[in-house]
Amino acid sequence: MTLESPSAFSNQDILNTLIIGAGPAGYTAAIYLARYGRNPLLVTGMQPGGQLTLTTEVENFPGFAEPIQGPWLMDQCRDQAMACGAKIEYDTINAVDFGVRPFQCIGDARTYYAHSIIISTGAATKWLDLDSETFYRGHGVSSCATCDGRFFKDKDVAIVGGGNTAAEEAIFLSQHAKTVTLIHRRDALRADKVLQQRLFDIPKVRLLWNHKVVRVLGTTQEHNPALPGKVTGIVVENTLSQEQTSLPMDGLFVAIGHSPNTDIFKQALPTDSDGYLLSTPGSSATSIPGVFVAGDVQDHVYRQAVTAAGQGCMAAMDAERFLQIQPQHHTQDMVQ
Ligand SMILES: Cc1cc2nc3c(=O)[nH]c(=O)nc-3n(C[C@H](O)[C@H](O)[C@H](O)COP(=O)(O)OP(=O)(O)OC[C@H]3O[C@@H](n4cnc5c(N)ncnc54)[C@H](O)[C@@H]3O)c2cc1C
Repeated sequence: MTLESPSAFSNQDILNTLIIGAGPAGYTAAIYLARYGRNPLLVTGMQPGGQLTLTTEVENFPGFAEPIQGPWLMDQCRDQAMACGAKIEYDTINAVDFGVRPFQCIGDARTYYAHSIIISTGAATKWLDLDSETFYRGHGVSSCATCDGRFFKDKDVAIVGGGNTAAEEAIFLSQHAKTVTLIHRRDALRADKVLQQRLFDIPKVRLLWNHKVVRVLGTTQEHNPALPGKVTGIVVENTLSQEQTSLPMDGLFVAIGHSPNTDIFKQALPTDSDGYLLSTPGSSATSIPGVFVAGDVQDHVYRQAVTAAGQGCMAAMDAERFLQIQPQHHTQDMVQ
């Protein structure tokens, strides 16, 4: 994988903006930049539509009175971006060079040259890596209590994890669910003491120390057993005695962390200790003028489709301002 010298291509090949990532952040950035007449190109990566394609019902994205399906919402965002004039490439970026102008990004299919870049590669939930967990994702297994907690009103749910996110999500779930069982493989939480106390004070929260989930139990769809029905329970294993127990449960939340998709940027841009890209507070700008970030790739606090979309809008506006002060950049078609 070699990067070409800037003299090896003509201005015709240079994009105004390359958007890396096709989640709510990337698609929103594409919509805005297309409407500015900047002919953005968006590269989708391996998961066109992003994390929302892993879920079923979305109830908290504004504009829809009834719950909508996550994959459908992302198809709408893609179609809206294309209708506005954005181009979409089903490719994955494997390496970047932000030390040259124009910037260079190497994909599986080809190399992209751009005057500005928006990174919106999102984050991946860390899962337990159980086949049954994968099977029931979106059908009772979730990684987002804020998103899906309300679907478990008066139900029994379990949550796995021991950090702040797990504690916060367990507290949130307790506002909806009948019971919440927090399962942790050790005998103490890593969460802040204040959070722990709030959690311990909630009568409907039960703590299962020294246990891990080894299987998710559930039904399959009557007409097609290859498809998940709903979760009915979990099998937990005592990490000290290896004894296994089945627990009836309506839902399982996995809160053992997220990994931002930043491996290919780590040489070029600063990250925090968890690998999230850093941006200037109140802006999408990074330490490199012309490179902007949006969405979960830089946000470990909010992690919502609507916040990612908002940050995609910010990044597009910041990129547009950047392009405006670059005299050689114009709005005519670049890469087709
Ligand atoms: C199960 C689940 C349910 C959820 N439910 C809700 C909900 O109901 N409401 C809500 O608001 N939020 C929900 N969320 C959170 C929401 O999905 C995320 O906050 C949001 O998708 C983040 O958007 P994003 O654009 O930053 O990144 P993502 O959606 O993570 O998209 C990242 C994109 O980057 C691409 N990419 C990654 N690496 C590369 C690369 N090297 N080259 C090119 N492209 C790359 C990926 O293919 C993908 O297209 C849920 C999340 C999950 C996991």
